[in-house]
Amino acid sequence: MSLTVPKTQYACVFDKPFGPIVYKKTAVPTPKPTEILVHVLYSGVCHTDLHAWRGDWELKTKLPLVGGHEGAGVVVAKGSQVTSFEIGDYAGIKWLNGSCMSCEYCMQGAEPTCPDGDYSGYTHDGTFQEYATADAVQAAHLPKDVKLDAVAPILCAGVTSYKALKTADLRAGQWVAVSGAGGGLGSLAVQYGVAMGLRVLAIDGGDDKAALCKSLGAEAFVDFTKTKDLVKEVQRITNGGPHGVINVSVSEKAINQSTLYVRPLGKVVLVGMPADSKLTCDVLTQVFKCSQIRGSCVGNREDTAEALDFFYRGLVHSPFEVVGLSKLPEVFKLMAENKIVGRYVLDTSK
Ligand code: NAD
Ligand code: ZN
Ligand code: ZN
Repeated sequence: MSLTVPKTQYACVFDKPFGPIVYKKTAVPTPKPTEILVHVLYSGVCHTDLHAWRGDWELKTKLPLVGGHEGAGVVVAKGSQVTSFEIGDYAGIKWLNGSCMSCEYCMQGAEPTCPDGDYSGYTHDGTFQEYATADAVQAAHLPKDVKLDAVAPILCAGVTSYKALKTADLRAGQWVAVSGAGGGLGSLAVQYGVAMGLRVLAIDGGDDKAALCKSLGAEAFVDFTKTKDLVKEVQRITNGGPHGVINVSVSEKAINQSTLYVRPLGKVVLVGMPADSKLTCDVLTQVFKCSQIRGSCVGNREDTAEALDFFYRGLVHSPFEVVGLSKLPEVFKLMAENKIVGRYVLDTSK
Protein backbone atom coordinates (compact mmCIF):
# COMPACT_ATOMS: atom_id res chain seq x y z
CA MET A 1 0.00 0.00 0.00
CA SER A 2 1.37 3.41 -0.95
CA LEU A 3 0.10 6.88 -0.11
CA THR A 4 1.66 8.42 -3.21
CA VAL A 5 -0.82 8.79 -6.03
CA PRO A 6 0.21 7.44 -9.43
CA LYS A 7 -1.05 8.97 -12.69
CA THR A 8 -2.36 5.69 -14.08
CA GLN A 9 -3.94 2.57 -12.68
CA TYR A 10 -5.76 -0.62 -13.69
CA ALA A 11 -9.55 -0.64 -13.99
CA CYS A 12 -12.31 -2.87 -15.39
CA VAL A 13 -14.33 -0.82 -17.87
CA PHE A 14 -17.24 -1.55 -20.21
CA ASP A 15 -18.76 0.69 -22.90
CA LYS A 16 -22.23 -0.79 -23.37
CA PRO A 17 -24.59 -3.33 -21.79
CA PHE A 18 -23.20 -6.86 -22.25
CA GLY A 19 -20.11 -5.28 -23.87
CA PRO A 20 -16.63 -6.63 -23.19
CA ILE A 21 -15.33 -5.87 -19.71
CA VAL A 22 -11.82 -4.63 -20.43
CA TYR A 23 -9.10 -4.76 -17.76
CA LYS A 24 -6.90 -1.86 -18.80
CA LYS A 25 -4.76 1.11 -17.82
CA THR A 26 -6.75 4.28 -17.16
CA ALA A 27 -6.08 7.67 -15.61
CA VAL A 28 -6.39 7.91 -11.82
CA PRO A 29 -9.43 10.14 -11.12
CA THR A 30 -9.03 13.50 -9.35
CA PRO A 31 -11.25 14.13 -6.32
CA LYS A 32 -13.65 17.11 -6.40
CA PRO A 33 -13.43 19.55 -3.44
CA THR A 34 -15.98 17.46 -1.50
CA GLU A 35 -14.50 14.05 -2.35
CA ILE A 36 -11.79 11.71 -1.12
CA LEU A 37 -9.60 9.56 -3.36
CA VAL A 38 -9.46 6.00 -2.03
CA HIS A 39 -6.79 3.46 -2.92
CA VAL A 40 -9.27 0.60 -3.16
CA LEU A 41 -7.44 -2.55 -2.11
CA TYR A 42 -10.46 -4.86 -2.19
CA SER A 43 -13.94 -4.72 -3.70
CA GLY A 44 -16.78 -7.18 -3.29
CA VAL A 45 -18.83 -8.10 -6.37
CA CYS A 46 -22.55 -7.55 -5.77
CA HIS A 47 -25.29 -8.89 -8.03
CA THR A 48 -26.24 -5.23 -8.61
CA ASP A 49 -22.95 -4.89 -10.51
CA LEU A 50 -24.10 -7.69 -12.81
CA HIS A 51 -27.49 -5.98 -13.29
CA ALA A 52 -25.59 -2.77 -14.16
CA TRP A 53 -23.43 -4.51 -16.77
CA ARG A 54 -26.50 -6.13 -18.34
CA GLY A 55 -28.50 -2.89 -18.31
CA ASP A 56 -31.28 -4.78 -16.49
CA TRP A 57 -33.06 -1.82 -14.95
CA GLU A 58 -34.95 1.22 -16.18
CA LEU A 59 -32.48 3.44 -14.29
CA LYS A 60 -29.56 3.75 -16.71
CA THR A 61 -25.87 3.64 -15.81
CA LYS A 62 -23.25 6.09 -16.97
CA LEU A 63 -21.21 4.77 -19.89
CA PRO A 64 -18.42 3.87 -20.13
CA LEU A 65 -18.66 2.52 -16.59
CA VAL A 66 -16.35 1.23 -13.90
CA GLY A 67 -18.70 -0.81 -11.69
CA GLY A 68 -18.35 -1.81 -8.04
CA HIS A 69 -19.67 -0.47 -4.74
CA GLU A 70 -18.23 -2.65 -1.97
CA GLY A 71 -14.81 -1.02 -1.84
CA ALA A 72 -12.42 -0.90 1.08
CA GLY A 73 -9.12 0.95 1.09
CA VAL A 74 -7.00 3.88 2.18
CA VAL A 75 -7.53 7.61 1.67
CA VAL A 76 -4.63 8.89 -0.44
CA ALA A 77 -5.89 12.35 -1.41
CA LYS A 78 -8.80 14.63 -0.59
CA GLY A 79 -10.58 17.71 -1.88
CA SER A 80 -10.09 21.13 -0.27
CA GLN A 81 -13.44 21.03 1.60
CA VAL A 82 -13.02 17.59 3.19
CA THR A 83 -12.52 17.77 6.96
CA SER A 84 -13.90 14.39 8.02
CA PHE A 85 -11.09 12.24 6.57
CA GLU A 86 -7.30 12.45 6.82
CA ILE A 87 -4.78 10.99 4.41
CA GLY A 88 -4.03 7.45 5.57
CA ASP A 89 -7.49 6.82 7.04
CA TYR A 90 -9.29 3.62 6.07
CA ALA A 91 -12.50 4.24 4.11
CA GLY A 92 -15.34 2.24 2.61
CA ILE A 93 -17.16 3.01 -0.62
CA LYS A 94 -20.79 1.95 -0.75
CA TRP A 95 -23.71 2.12 -3.19
CA LEU A 96 -24.94 5.60 -2.24
CA ASN A 97 -22.16 7.95 -3.25
CA GLY A 98 -24.12 11.12 -2.65
CA SER A 99 -27.58 12.62 -2.23
CA CYS A 100 -29.00 16.15 -2.18
CA MET A 101 -29.19 16.28 1.64
CA SER A 102 -32.06 18.77 1.47
CA CYS A 103 -35.12 16.92 0.12
CA GLU A 104 -37.91 15.53 2.29
CA TYR A 105 -36.25 12.06 2.35
CA CYS A 106 -32.70 13.22 3.00
CA MET A 107 -34.00 15.35 5.87
CA GLN A 108 -35.34 12.19 7.50
CA GLY A 109 -32.07 10.32 7.02
CA ALA A 110 -33.65 8.23 4.26
CA GLU A 111 -30.89 9.28 1.86
CA PRO A 112 -31.06 6.11 -0.31
CA THR A 113 -34.55 7.25 -1.41
CA CYS A 114 -33.34 10.70 -2.54
CA PRO A 115 -34.55 11.40 -6.10
CA ASP A 116 -31.14 12.93 -6.86
CA GLY A 117 -29.02 10.04 -5.59
CA ASP A 118 -25.62 9.31 -7.11
CA TYR A 119 -24.54 5.66 -7.07
CA SER A 120 -21.04 4.19 -6.97
CA GLY A 121 -20.46 1.76 -9.80
CA TYR A 122 -23.63 2.93 -11.53
CA THR A 123 -23.87 6.71 -12.07
CA HIS A 124 -20.38 7.35 -10.61
CA ASP A 125 -17.32 5.23 -11.45
CA GLY A 126 -16.98 2.66 -8.70
CA THR A 127 -14.55 0.28 -7.05
CA PHE A 128 -13.51 -2.09 -9.85
CA GLN A 129 -10.38 0.04 -10.16
CA GLU A 130 -7.34 0.73 -7.99
CA TYR A 131 -8.26 4.34 -7.17
CA ALA A 132 -11.82 5.61 -6.81
CA THR A 133 -13.33 8.93 -5.76
CA ALA A 134 -16.11 9.05 -3.17
CA ASP A 135 -18.22 11.76 -1.58
CA ALA A 136 -16.76 12.38 1.89
CA VAL A 137 -20.20 12.58 3.52
CA GLN A 138 -21.33 9.13 2.44
CA ALA A 139 -18.00 7.27 2.51
CA ALA A 140 -17.76 4.94 5.50
CA HIS A 141 -15.13 5.45 8.18
CA LEU A 142 -13.31 2.18 8.91
CA PRO A 143 -10.97 1.52 11.81
CA LYS A 144 -7.25 1.03 11.14
CA ASP A 145 -7.06 -2.57 12.35
CA VAL A 146 -9.88 -3.86 10.12
CA LYS A 147 -9.19 -6.55 7.52
CA LEU A 148 -10.05 -4.73 4.27
CA ASP A 149 -10.91 -7.87 2.26
CA ALA A 150 -13.28 -9.16 4.95
CA VAL A 151 -15.02 -5.83 5.55
CA ALA A 152 -15.66 -5.04 1.85
CA PRO A 153 -18.86 -7.15 1.49
CA ILE A 154 -20.33 -5.59 4.64
CA LEU A 155 -20.48 -2.23 2.80
CA CYS A 156 -23.36 -3.36 0.58
CA ALA A 157 -24.37 -6.97 1.31
CA GLY A 158 -24.08 -6.46 5.06
CA VAL A 159 -25.71 -3.05 5.30
CA THR A 160 -28.54 -4.03 2.95
CA SER A 161 -29.42 -7.31 4.64
CA TYR A 162 -29.21 -5.74 8.10
CA LYS A 163 -31.49 -2.86 7.03
CA ALA A 164 -33.93 -5.32 5.43
CA LEU A 165 -34.19 -7.15 8.76
CA LYS A 166 -34.85 -3.84 10.54
CA THR A 167 -37.50 -3.13 7.91
CA ALA A 168 -39.14 -6.50 8.66
CA ASP A 169 -39.53 -5.28 12.25
CA LEU A 170 -39.53 -8.71 13.92
CA ARG A 171 -39.16 -9.82 17.54
CA ALA A 172 -36.62 -12.27 18.91
CA GLY A 173 -38.00 -15.80 18.67
CA GLN A 174 -39.99 -15.16 15.49
CA TRP A 175 -39.28 -16.92 12.20
CA VAL A 176 -37.65 -15.13 9.29
CA ALA A 177 -37.26 -16.76 5.89
CA VAL A 178 -34.26 -15.65 3.84
CA SER A 179 -34.90 -16.43 0.17
CA GLY A 180 -31.56 -16.48 -1.69
CA ALA A 181 -29.76 -17.33 1.57
CA GLY A 182 -26.62 -18.84 0.04
CA GLY A 183 -25.62 -15.73 -1.93
CA GLY A 184 -23.78 -12.55 -0.95
CA LEU A 185 -26.64 -10.76 0.79
CA GLY A 186 -28.36 -13.93 1.96
CA SER A 187 -25.35 -15.39 3.76
CA LEU A 188 -25.14 -12.19 5.79
CA ALA A 189 -28.91 -11.91 6.29
CA VAL A 190 -28.88 -15.38 7.89
CA GLN A 191 -26.25 -14.26 10.42
CA TYR A 192 -27.77 -10.84 11.18
CA GLY A 193 -31.08 -12.67 11.72
CA VAL A 194 -29.49 -15.11 14.15
CA ALA A 195 -27.67 -12.26 15.94
CA MET A 196 -31.01 -10.46 16.32
CA GLY A 197 -32.47 -13.54 18.00
CA LEU A 198 -34.62 -14.70 15.09
CA ARG A 199 -35.23 -18.28 13.95
CA VAL A 200 -33.89 -18.42 10.40
CA LEU A 201 -35.23 -20.59 7.61
CA ALA A 202 -32.88 -20.41 4.62
CA ILE A 203 -34.04 -20.99 1.04
CA ASP A 204 -31.61 -21.55 -1.85
CA GLY A 205 -30.44 -24.34 -4.17
CA GLY A 206 -27.73 -26.98 -3.84
CA ASP A 207 -25.88 -28.89 -1.13
CA ASP A 208 -23.02 -26.36 -0.87
CA LYS A 209 -25.45 -23.55 -0.10
CA ALA A 210 -27.38 -25.77 2.34
CA ALA A 211 -24.17 -26.59 4.22
CA LEU A 212 -23.12 -22.92 4.29
CA CYS A 213 -26.50 -21.68 5.57
CA LYS A 214 -26.59 -24.32 8.33
CA SER A 215 -23.01 -23.48 9.35
CA LEU A 216 -24.05 -19.81 9.66
CA GLY A 217 -26.87 -20.65 12.05
CA ALA A 218 -29.96 -21.29 9.90
CA GLU A 219 -32.30 -23.66 11.74
CA ALA A 220 -33.74 -25.10 8.53
CA PHE A 221 -32.93 -25.11 4.81
CA VAL A 222 -35.35 -25.56 1.93
CA ASP A 223 -33.85 -26.38 -1.48
CA PHE A 224 -35.90 -24.61 -4.15
CA THR A 225 -34.44 -26.90 -6.84
CA LYS A 226 -35.66 -30.07 -5.12
CA THR A 227 -38.76 -29.15 -3.12
CA LYS A 228 -42.03 -29.97 -4.88
CA ASP A 229 -44.37 -27.67 -2.96
CA LEU A 230 -42.10 -24.97 -1.55
CA VAL A 231 -44.93 -22.90 -0.07
CA LYS A 232 -46.30 -25.88 1.91
CA GLU A 233 -42.83 -26.94 3.06
CA VAL A 234 -41.93 -23.47 4.35
CA GLN A 235 -45.26 -23.25 6.18
CA ARG A 236 -44.84 -26.76 7.63
CA ILE A 237 -41.37 -26.02 9.04
CA THR A 238 -42.39 -22.65 10.50
CA ASN A 239 -45.73 -23.91 11.82
CA GLY A 240 -47.88 -21.57 9.72
CA GLY A 241 -45.37 -19.44 7.79
CA PRO A 242 -42.50 -17.13 8.71
CA HIS A 243 -43.31 -13.83 10.44
CA GLY A 244 -41.06 -12.08 7.95
CA VAL A 245 -39.38 -12.81 4.63
CA ILE A 246 -36.18 -11.23 3.29
CA ASN A 247 -36.22 -11.59 -0.50
CA VAL A 248 -32.63 -11.52 -1.71
CA SER A 249 -32.95 -14.01 -4.56
CA VAL A 250 -32.88 -12.82 -8.15
CA SER A 251 -36.04 -14.75 -8.95
CA GLU A 252 -39.50 -13.37 -9.70
CA LYS A 253 -41.02 -16.76 -8.88
CA ALA A 254 -39.36 -16.88 -5.47
CA ILE A 255 -40.53 -13.35 -4.65
CA ASN A 256 -44.10 -14.16 -5.61
CA GLN A 257 -44.02 -17.38 -3.57
CA SER A 258 -43.03 -15.39 -0.49
CA THR A 259 -46.40 -13.61 -0.40
CA LEU A 260 -48.06 -17.04 -0.31
CA TYR A 261 -46.08 -18.63 2.51
CA VAL A 262 -45.73 -15.56 4.75
CA ARG A 263 -47.65 -15.92 8.02
CA PRO A 264 -50.80 -13.86 8.64
CA LEU A 265 -49.71 -10.41 9.93
CA GLY A 266 -46.30 -11.14 8.39
CA LYS A 267 -44.00 -8.82 6.48
CA VAL A 268 -42.55 -9.50 3.04
CA VAL A 269 -39.44 -7.41 2.42
CA LEU A 270 -38.37 -6.83 -1.19
CA VAL A 271 -34.63 -6.43 -1.77
CA GLY A 272 -33.56 -8.43 -4.86
CA MET A 273 -34.49 -6.84 -8.18
CA PRO A 274 -34.66 -9.38 -11.02
CA ALA A 275 -34.99 -7.71 -14.44
CA ASP A 276 -38.52 -6.91 -15.66
CA SER A 277 -40.14 -8.52 -12.64
CA LYS A 278 -43.62 -8.00 -11.29
CA LEU A 279 -44.94 -8.84 -7.89
CA THR A 280 -48.27 -10.54 -8.51
CA CYS A 281 -50.35 -11.69 -5.61
CA ASP A 282 -53.92 -12.44 -4.81
CA VAL A 283 -55.53 -9.40 -3.14
CA LEU A 284 -58.06 -11.39 -1.10
CA THR A 285 -55.32 -13.55 0.41
CA GLN A 286 -53.24 -10.53 1.42
CA VAL A 287 -56.26 -8.75 2.90
CA PHE A 288 -57.37 -11.75 4.94
CA LYS A 289 -53.80 -12.33 6.12
CA CYS A 290 -53.30 -8.61 6.89
CA SER A 291 -49.79 -9.05 5.51
CA GLN A 292 -47.48 -6.20 4.51
CA ILE A 293 -45.14 -5.83 1.56
CA ARG A 294 -42.22 -3.45 2.16
CA GLY A 295 -39.33 -2.34 -0.06
CA SER A 296 -35.86 -1.89 1.40
CA CYS A 297 -32.97 -0.11 -0.31
CA VAL A 298 -29.42 -0.40 1.10
CA GLY A 299 -29.19 1.61 4.36
CA ASN A 300 -28.31 5.08 5.57
CA ARG A 301 -25.13 6.12 7.40
CA GLU A 302 -26.51 5.03 10.76
CA ASP A 303 -27.50 1.60 9.40
CA THR A 304 -24.00 1.33 7.94
CA ALA A 305 -22.35 2.06 11.28
CA GLU A 306 -24.64 -0.45 13.03
CA ALA A 307 -24.09 -3.16 10.42
CA LEU A 308 -20.31 -2.65 10.69
CA ASP A 309 -20.53 -2.89 14.47
CA PHE A 310 -22.00 -6.42 14.25
CA PHE A 311 -19.02 -7.30 12.02
CA TYR A 312 -16.43 -5.76 14.39
CA ARG A 313 -17.94 -7.72 17.27
CA GLY A 314 -17.51 -10.97 15.33
CA LEU A 315 -21.25 -11.66 15.06
CA VAL A 316 -21.33 -11.70 11.24
CA HIS A 317 -18.79 -12.33 8.49
CA SER A 318 -19.04 -12.71 4.75
CA PRO A 319 -17.91 -16.14 3.51
CA PHE A 320 -15.69 -14.84 0.73
CA GLU A 321 -13.06 -15.88 -1.77
CA VAL A 322 -10.46 -13.45 -3.16
CA VAL A 323 -9.54 -13.30 -6.87
CA GLY A 324 -7.80 -10.64 -8.97
CA LEU A 325 -9.68 -7.65 -10.40
CA SER A 326 -8.97 -8.91 -13.93
CA LYS A 327 -11.15 -11.97 -13.19
CA LEU A 328 -14.37 -9.90 -12.98
CA PRO A 329 -15.91 -11.41 -16.16
CA GLU A 330 -15.47 -14.93 -14.74
CA VAL A 331 -17.08 -13.86 -11.46
CA PHE A 332 -20.08 -12.41 -13.35
CA LYS A 333 -20.44 -15.70 -15.25
CA LEU A 334 -20.52 -17.76 -12.04
CA MET A 335 -22.94 -15.29 -10.45
CA ALA A 336 -25.36 -15.47 -13.38
CA GLU A 337 -25.35 -19.27 -12.99
CA ASN A 338 -26.13 -19.03 -9.23
CA LYS A 339 -22.83 -20.81 -8.56
CA ILE A 340 -21.35 -18.41 -6.02
CA VAL A 341 -21.52 -19.58 -2.43
CA GLY A 342 -21.21 -16.36 -0.43
CA ARG A 343 -19.21 -13.55 -2.05
CA TYR A 344 -16.26 -12.98 -4.39
CA VAL A 345 -13.91 -10.16 -3.41
CA LEU A 346 -11.53 -8.67 -5.97
CA ASP A 347 -7.91 -7.82 -5.13
CA THR A 348 -7.38 -4.68 -7.23
CA SER A 349 -3.59 -5.24 -7.48
CA LYS A 350 -4.01 -8.30 -9.73
P1 NAD B 1 -26.20 -13.45 -5.31
O1 NAD B 1 -26.16 -13.87 -6.74
O2 NAD B 1 -24.96 -13.51 -4.50
O3 NAD B 1 -27.30 -14.28 -4.52
C1 NAD B 1 -28.58 -14.59 -5.03
C2 NAD B 1 -28.94 -15.97 -4.50
O4 NAD B 1 -30.30 -16.28 -4.88
C3 NAD B 1 -28.07 -17.09 -5.09
O5 NAD B 1 -27.45 -17.83 -4.04
C4 NAD B 1 -29.07 -17.96 -5.86
O6 NAD B 1 -28.76 -19.34 -5.85
C5 NAD B 1 -30.37 -17.67 -5.12
N1 NAD B 1 -31.58 -18.00 -5.86
C6 NAD B 1 -31.79 -18.00 -7.21
N2 NAD B 1 -33.05 -18.41 -7.47
C7 NAD B 1 -33.65 -18.68 -6.29
C8 NAD B 1 -34.94 -19.13 -5.90
N3 NAD B 1 -35.88 -19.41 -6.81
N4 NAD B 1 -35.21 -19.28 -4.58
C9 NAD B 1 -34.25 -19.01 -3.65
N5 NAD B 1 -33.01 -18.59 -3.96
C10 NAD B 1 -32.71 -18.41 -5.26
O7 NAD B 1 -26.78 -11.95 -5.31
P2 NAD B 1 -26.62 -10.79 -4.20
O8 NAD B 1 -25.38 -10.02 -4.48
O9 NAD B 1 -26.85 -11.37 -2.87
O10 NAD B 1 -27.84 -9.83 -4.63
C11 NAD B 1 -29.16 -10.31 -4.61
C12 NAD B 1 -30.13 -9.29 -5.18
O11 NAD B 1 -30.22 -8.17 -4.29
C13 NAD B 1 -29.77 -8.69 -6.54
O12 NAD B 1 -30.94 -8.49 -7.32
C14 NAD B 1 -29.17 -7.35 -6.18
O13 NAD B 1 -29.24 -6.40 -7.21
C15 NAD B 1 -30.08 -6.98 -5.03
N6 NAD B 1 -29.56 -5.95 -4.13
C16 NAD B 1 -30.46 -5.06 -3.65
C17 NAD B 1 -30.08 -4.08 -2.78
C18 NAD B 1 -31.09 -3.13 -2.23
O14 NAD B 1 -30.70 -2.13 -1.65
N7 NAD B 1 -32.37 -3.40 -2.34
C19 NAD B 1 -28.72 -3.99 -2.40
C20 NAD B 1 -27.83 -4.94 -2.89
C21 NAD B 1 -28.25 -5.92 -3.76
ZN1 ZN C 1 -24.71 -4.04 -3.77
ZN1 ZN D 1 -32.33 14.25 -1.21
